[in-house]
This record gives sequence, structure tokens and C-alpha cells, in this order.
Amino acid sequence: MDEAPVEETTPESAKTASAKAETHEFQAEVSKLLDLMINSLYKEKDIFLRELIANASDACDKLRYAAITEPELTAGDSDLKVTISADKDARTLTVQDNGIGMNHDELVANLGTIARSGTEAFLKIMKEGDGETDANLIGQFGVGFYSAFMVASKVEVFTRRAGDETGWHWESKGRGKFSIQEDASAERGARIVLHLRKAEEDFLDPMRIRHIVSTYSDHIALPIQLLEDGKEAETLNEGSALWTRPVSEITEEQHNEFYNHVAHLPGAPWATVHVHAEGRFEYTALLYVPDMRPFDLFDPARQHRVRLYVKRVFITEECEGLVPGFLRFMRGIVDCADLPLNVSRETLQHNPLLAKISSGLVKRILSELEKKAKKEPEAFAEFWDNFGAVLKEGIYEESDHRDKLMKLARFHSLTSGEKWLSLDEYAAAMPEGQDAIYYLSGDAEAGIDKSPQLEGFKARGIDVLFMTDPVDQFWLPTATEYDGKPFRSITQGSADLDKFEAAKPEDGADGCAAGAQTSESDMDKLIALIKLTLGEEVKDVRSSSRLTESPVCLVADEGDVDMHFERLLRQHQQPVMGHKRVLEINPGHALTRALADLVNREGASEALEDAAHLLFDQARILEGETLPDPAAFSRRLAGLLTKTLSA
Ligand code: ADP
Ligand code: MG
Repeated sequence: MDEAPVEETTPESAKTASAKAETHEFQAEVSKLLDLMINSLYKEKDIFLRELIANASDACDKLRYAAITEPELTAGDSDLKVTISADKDARTLTVQDNGIGMNHDELVANLGTIARSGTEAFLKIMKEGDGETDANLIGQFGVGFYSAFMVASKVEVFTRRAGDETGWHWESKGRGKFSIQEDASAERGARIVLHLRKAEEDFLDPMRIRHIVSTYSDHIALPIQLLEDGKEAETLNEGSALWTRPVSEITEEQHNEFYNHVAHLPGAPWATVHVHAEGRFEYTALLYVPDMRPFDLFDPARQHRVRLYVKRVFITEECEGLVPGFLRFMRGIVDCADLPLNVSRETLQHNPLLAKISSGLVKRILSELEKKAKKEPEAFAEFWDNFGAVLKEGIYEESDHRDKLMKLARFHSLTSGEKWLSLDEYAAAMPEGQDAIYYLSGDAEAGIDKSPQLEGFKARGIDVLFMTDPVDQFWLPTATEYDGKPFRSITQGSADLDKFEAAKPEDGADGCAAGAQTSESDMDKLIALIKLTLGEEVKDVRSSSRLTESPVCLVADEGDVDMHFERLLRQHQQPVMGHKRVLEINPGHALTRALADLVNREGASEALEDAAHLLFDQARILEGETLPDPAAFSRRLAGLLTKTLSA
């Protein structure tokens, strides 16, 4: 401190000094969160220290960055560090840093509200889950600071923003309110004083503190010191950036800890990609593939969270162009020696070097995924469960990587059960004469495997891939083929299944066995009658080789929009053309045969017209569509049943 305050007050007693304190209320979400912190969390309380150290480290990173253009900000105290001290008599634990600090408005905003969007998601998980994983997830939701209230009955923050004259004193007991008042004595950075609850005084034990720091914060790239009365400051961590250490010297624990820190995710990463690139330009990347989905994976912003450093100075976590959207699940850091330090974050994004680094990273990540897919197919399946839907975005966004991504892509299919199938595996199992990759778009939850259009394929032992992710509707039209084989939707166009022999032609219900008693011309008459009855409601009515058990199904005409895609668009309130569909009927089904006989014997009748409408409605129901006129459907069905039952 260069300017002594007029009144000689210690910071703790400053609140009793003359400066008046203003009282604020916490944002409602924060209050809810604090209630949970205070009342429900009982496991893994240790993590509060990790979160406070992480904040201190972030604050030092910010100052280091700001000082590139304004070196005077660190004047007089440029050795950035974190110090921890315990006072047994006062039962306080203090975490202090000499980083960027906060001014009045930042204090109100940062320690009174929750800026990031994850609050609701977090509160939900906290309420539903068990305390253990929950507490661990705190950092991910941008609420780490509040974890101090797991152990403290009162928290004080003394802070001065770098470059400012005055400092501030924030204080709260975590129950709805906090107060702020000016505090001339606050030093640059932030000093967080936790008044521990009696039951938590264990945290004052230096052994305990050492243990927590080495468990969670060893990788922090600035010194963390422990101050004990009458002793020299003891540095608790290695204090060098983990990614600058030789690959072979980094232990698994250190990786896990660093991953927990940068990804805000518990446990161990699914895979680690550590790259030192040298040559025309130099960079280091330490990246992790998480083993679970981050909560904001499907945010429309599709923002990645890989941190960019330049010569070890943290620049930003939001560097557009560093990692493409389809790899946004990656976590970690990229440190580049050749990017200019003294440019704004905005101009950095247009630096041509960035694009080169990005494409180098994508290649490395994809080749790592390829290796894993080959060597550890089961582990890869877990990865695919988590991130397959995101990775597939790359197929239509990045034509450069399309082939690689298609090779990595996995699908469920008619025959695969729970197993994931690659396109190569699918192609290898194709019977002679099959020249297309058949797929069905639909909803996994809505029972895609029960779709009537599958019946003919099942009977002929031909596999069909299930496209159940919304993203499939975007890449399929762009990726028209794989390895020379075109993709063919089985609900679109004609099925051309007749060229394959059915596995069980003796089965009377099979489409191929059509005509046992019904001649083709009788069936044609029925089709003509249905077409006439439905008129403009359908695009066409055809005999089908797709069906074995169901009497009817709907398909899209060649060149029309896929039916599932149209439904998806409707669900998302997108404008839809509303294509008419083709009604296909199963010539081998007992019902259609009976109807054909009836047409042949008696010609058109009202009963047959009702039947035509009922068949069409039935096909719509099988598609999971809602009927445009349920009343008419009900009337016709009731009429028909009455007739049958009273006959
Ligand atoms: P997060 O760190 O994910 O943003 P936290 O709840 O841990 O969420 O912290 C909220 C905000 O409070 C931080 O983003 C930062 O702006 C501010 N903050 C917390 N601790 C410090 C500190 N030691 N120095 C400066 N600012 C801090
Ligand atoms: Mg934090």
C-alpha cells in the first residue's frame, strides 16, 4: 500500500468505521443456490478451496493480460501469487491474491448474481442428485465462489481493482443479503476471509490445506503459498504451467486435476491430446475429451471452451475460430508462441495463424479418435453416446473432414440392437445386389424399429440404419454417398425390394406371396378405387414390396422432403411445404385382399370408400402423425365395427 488511509483501521474493523455500508439483495437464483449450499451439501466440501484458488488464479491471469498494454497496473507488485492463511483464534481462513480485483459494480454483479446461463440447470441437478457429484460440478456452472458458504457462516471480501484508488469490502452471511462499503485499506486483488463454522474448523489445519491444494490445485500456474504464524511462507505447488512440462513427466493424477480445473468436470477425461507443434509456427495444446456431456453442449451458441494462451499469458476462453463447433466438447488449452500478445482479442480471431493452428488441432483430434475407435471399440462407443450427435455436425460443415468423420460415425440399425455400427461394417454385411445404404429417419423414443416400412427389409435380411439425431437430416442431403454407395431413405421413393429374395416366401403375410387368391388386376382395381376416393389427399397410391405385416404405410415421393424431417421442422415451428405422401398398400395382407375381392364382386360402394379413408388414416397413425379429422375417423371406424359385429 502506498497511500496510508486517513484512519488507521484494520480491514476487518473497517466495517465499523464511518463509511456507510449499502445493503443489497442477492438475485433470487443466488439465494436459492446459497440455501442449497448451506443446508444440503455435505460431501466433498473441500472443493470450496479449489474454487477460491481457481478464482484467484483467473484474477491473476486477467491482470497479466491487462498489464501487456498497461504495465503500470502491476507496478510495485508484479509477482502474482495466491496466499492462504489460517487464524485459529478467530477461526478464519483467508485466501488472498494480488490479481485484477473488483470495483464496486463488479462486486455487485459478480458476487450478487449469476451471470452464466447454467443456474437453473445446476439447481435442478443439485436437487435431483446425490451430494457428491453435485458439489464437484459447481465450477461448471459459474457459481464456484458461493461454495464458500458450504463451510463459512460469514464471508468477507476485501478487494481493490488494479489501477483504482479505492477498495471495497463485501460481506455476507449468505442469507438473502450482502453489504458493500468503501474500504481504503484494501490491497490490489482480492482477499477472501471465511469465518468457518465451528464444525468446519478442520480446514484451519495446515496438513488439511496442504492436502487439498495438492489434490486439486497443484497444476495452478502460479505459486500458492501457505502462511503460518512465525514461519516462512511455504509454497505448496509446482507453480509452472502443466502443458509446458515434458509429456512423459506429467502424471495421470496431474492430468486429471488439470482436466477437472479447465473442464469443470469431475473424474478423468476420456482421452488426452497433448501436442507440441514446432516448425513454421510453434504451439502447445493440451486438450481433453470429456467422459460426460457438459451441460451446455447443445446451446445454440455452439461455443467451444478451449482456453487460448499466448506465451503462457491467458488471453481468452472465447476465441472464435480456434476450435470448430463440431468439436466444442473438447476442453483444455492452446498456448501459442507466435501470436502477437499486444492485440485485442477481437483482432486475434482474424489472425491467419489461428486458422492454421485450428486445422492442425482438428487433424490431431480426429486421428486420436480414429485410433481409439480402432483399438478400443467399446470405449469409443461411450464417446459416441456422448458426442456423436455433435461430431456429425462436421460432416456437412467441414467438407475437408467429411470422409474421416463418416468413417468415425456410428449408427444403430435394424439388426444392431444396442451395438453401434460403422458404415464400413454396414457395407461389409450388404448382401449381393444391394447397391445402396438404406436408412430410416425417425425418433428413437417413438419406436423407430417398429416402423412398417422396415418389414420388407427385415423379411429379406437387409439391414437399415436408423437416423435418429436431428443433425442427420442436415448431413444426409449433403453427403450423398459413402465409399461409392448412395444413401437411400426407405421412406422415400420406390423400395425396389423385389430384386431381393424374401427369406420366408412361404409366409402368407409376406408381400412377395401376394396374389394367392387375389389376382393382380383385382388389386389394381382396389388401388384405382382408393386413389379416386382419396383424390388430392395423396400423391399416389401404390402396391408395396416394403410391407409384410402392416396393411399400409406412407412414403415420400422421390425428390420430396423426408417425412421425419418435415415433422421435425413442424416441431420447431419452421415453415413447411407440406408435401403430399404416397400411400402404399400391402397386396399380401388379408385385409387388402378381402377389399380387392369386394371391389371385384360388387364394385364401388360407400363401405369401400370408408375403408379407403380408414386405410389412409391408419397409415398416418403408424407414422405417428395426428389425424386432421379425428371425428370422421371415429365415425367410420364405429360404422365398420358395428356392421362387422352385428353381421
Ligand atoms: P466463475 O469463476 O465461474 O465466473 P465464480 O462464482 O467462481 O464463477 O466467480 C464469479 C465471478 O466473481 C468471477 O467470474 C470473477 O469475475 C469474480 N471473482 C471471484 N473471485 C475473484 C477474485 N479473487 N478476484 C477477482 N474477481 C473475482
Ligand atoms: Mg470460479
